[in-house]
Amino acid sequence: MREFIHKAAFSAGFDACGFARAEALTEDAAFLREWLSQGKHGDMQYLERNFEKRTDPRVLVPDCKTIIVLLLNYYPELKQTTERHKIAKYAYPEVDYHTTIREKLSRLEKEIALEYGADFFSIEHQHSFIDSAPVLERRWAQKTGLGWLGKHTQLIAPGYGSYVFIATLMINKELDSYDSPINDRCGTCTRCIDACPTQALIPGTLDARKCISYLTIESKSEVPFELRDKLSGYSVGCDICADVCPWNKKWALPHRHEELKPAEVIFSWKEEDWENAGPEELRRQFRKSAVMRALKNQHRI
Ligand code: SF4
Ligand code: SF4
Repeated sequence: MREFIHKAAFSAGFDACGFARAEALTEDAAFLREWLSQGKHGDMQYLERNFEKRTDPRVLVPDCKTIIVLLLNYYPELKQTTERHKIAKYAYPEVDYHTTIREKLSRLEKEIALEYGADFFSIEHQHSFIDSAPVLERRWAQKTGLGWLGKHTQLIAPGYGSYVFIATLMINKELDSYDSPINDRCGTCTRCIDACPTQALIPGTLDARKCISYLTIESKSEVPFELRDKLSGYSVGCDICADVCPWNKKWALPHRHEELKPAEVIFSWKEEDWENAGPEELRRQFRKSAVMRALKNQHRI
């Protein structure tokens, strides 16, 4: 069964696949409770909701026995070279990665259902996820041994680095065996922590309120005065801690996914084009893209 799912995941277009037993994430629950109580999630109030579901997949998807974790490499061949109006690499694709990954998940589910029957999945509950549900994707990816969680809190997948999307598929069947975590290979390195322009990182945790990704994508408020000159030219997201990571320098190779083709203007627009673009033009250029969410929260459209 594992072998079949593994092959089906690759033929659906994913780059890696791992299997974890569905169980309560007790340690993460304690950590998350403390992190939330310290207000480090800023105004992402949705993280306070569905606490039980977030920390136990069997509450989110009753009958769930196994979590299949899927990775998709998004490291681009071309990178932006502008000093300002920088977009994090995850948002380069013309089509929002949520759409791309949902299609792949749907292909995978169909393959599995054809082989094993539809009762493999919960019929009543959503059972496949990409970012849009209370699922601790990085932890599940770490549990399946697809990578370790770096000091910048992202998954680092051997052979890919940290420029990977993580999706999950929860199934009702127990497997004969599950994958095991791999060792953390950060060692004494602190490059990501040292490079963060806003000091948002302390080893293994993130103060989202200071993180440029949060400030440019999630927050609907103005960037606090003391952080405005630290955005390092980013308008959407931030790749600084990932870019300095030696494992990304070693492993991150350009993806070969046509469906992650970048929006043309990411490279062709000059600084004045970004500045002069009004809401209509921005909407036209980014209507299908993950950039839209940030533009909306920044009140640019
Ligand atoms: S994404 Fe940027 S701001 Fe956020 S922790 Fe990494 S370097 Fe710091
Ligand atoms: S930069 Fe260093 S400490 Fe940070 S995630 Fe990479 S290896 Fe780990």
